[in-house]
Amino acid sequence: MSDQVTYPQDPHGGCEQLRAEHEALIQFLYLAPVGLVQADIDGAIVMMNPISAQLLMPLSRSGGLDNLFDALDSVAPDLRYLCDQYALPSGKICDGLHVHLNAGAPGKKLPQILSVTLLKLDATRLMAVIDDVTMQVRRERQLRHNDAWLNAILTGITDYALVGLDARGAVTEWNPSIGRVTGFGQDAVGQPYSIFYPQDAMTQEHLLDRLRDADKDGWSMDEGKRVRADGSAFWGSAMIAPLPDRDAVDGEEPDGPAYCLILRDITDKREAIERRRREAFGDHLTGLANRRAFFESAEQELVHSRAAPRPTAVIAFDADHFKAINDRHGHPGGDAVLQHLAAILAETFREVDVVARIGGEEFAVLLPSTDLPRAAVVAERLRAIVASSSVHFEGARIHYTVSAGVACVLDGEGGIDLLLKRADQALYAAKRAGRNRVERWRAELSAVPIHPAEGGRDAA
Ligand code: GH3
Ligand code: MG
Ligand code: MG
Repeated sequence: MSDQVTYPQDPHGGCEQLRAEHEALIQFLYLAPVGLVQADIDGAIVMMNPISAQLLMPLSRSGGLDNLFDALDSVAPDLRYLCDQYALPSGKICDGLHVHLNAGAPGKKLPQILSVTLLKLDATRLMAVIDDVTMQVRRERQLRHNDAWLNAILTGITDYALVGLDARGAVTEWNPSIGRVTGFGQDAVGQPYSIFYPQDAMTQEHLLDRLRDADKDGWSMDEGKRVRADGSAFWGSAMIAPLPDRDAVDGEEPDGPAYCLILRDITDKREAIERRRREAFGDHLTGLANRRAFFESAEQELVHSRAAPRPTAVIAFDADHFKAINDRHGHPGGDAVLQHLAAILAETFREVDVVARIGGEEFAVLLPSTDLPRAAVVAERLRAIVASSSVHFEGARIHYTVSAGVACVLDGEGGIDLLLKRADQALYAAKRAGRNRVERWRAELSAVPIHPAEGGRDAA
């Protein structure tokens, strides 16, 4: 921001007034408790206040802050796209978009989250309002949790299944409410409650995690796709609560149910719920989970795997020579490739895996209860599918490849930051080794810097 402004001479003292107004504006920008950035329509930064510099600087890979979209590209790849798609002459391009910087820097427990509001002032000017909302998001999450609980109790309890579960999550006995909501008969008895979930949507560990959550918090609640005995799907909420008097006498197994599962069909609310979820957790270009959704689910999975140790794997994928694809086929051609890759990713992985776009041409997949060799096999399968397929775009056939890095932790230690960092280190090893390949993380890779600016990527 420059103070070197010359003011026109005005015999009526207008000059002084203009100067005073300008100084008040500068002061306002300096003192404003949020980051304010003015940019041209391509994101080139014209002016910014100190808070924005403070918030954006850690994201800059080059060390400079020339362009708003470039600065946010690694964490909010959607932004440029949203701006391009915005058809009105002026207005809000996005309102309080949450941008996850990481899932908790070392020594800090919370994710660092920025809220970005982007305004189109006119055909040539943008204004961004940037704020650190880390604490606020945590509070909102707690409130959402409480909301879900109240909702379950208060709204439209027209029909629900009341299911008793034993200490391992198996159905203890049948009653007519189970039949009404799920269509299951006596054959449900003795089976794990995951029979009400789509196949692949829940691991054995997840099943037990929910019981432990219920022990810890008094209840555990989730919403999503459920299935009936005949295989048909419905949208349901499931609340699990521990029952009293479940202590075994003299170490014997208690014979009554240990938990109560309340299963409700809320299909009629589904559209609104899904729309809200898509807006907050979906990537606009590919329809996959976004970075925010990835970090939230990964953090939750790793917290659970610290309590009940099991391997968790992450695969980081990055399209090879993507810049060249953009240069040759234009940005829309590049977008078509990203959509193609996203579709293959979504098809290849299980329902329980979290497939997300976490950067411009960078994708990550979280694989619960999966060890390194198994994750490497799936990554290799995906690499091979991509290498042998092509994208049709405006009469051309675009061939492309991806590189992948695979990492795994056994007990969630180090959180998603460590796991993703290792997957990235393996990914860059794959890039150095010539691209179109999969590398597994190993300890030696920790010593190699991963950003091009640090000389790691193209070192070989
Ligand atoms: P490498 O094989 O080393 O990964 O090379 P690369 O060219 O793929 O990697 P680099 O990181 O140099 O370039 C990534 C490019 O992706 C630069 C950026 O303009 C482009 N990009 C980022 N987001 C999008 C997007 O949403 N759509 C399109 N079409 N391009 C994007
Ligand atoms: Mg790339
Ligand atoms: Mg990249």
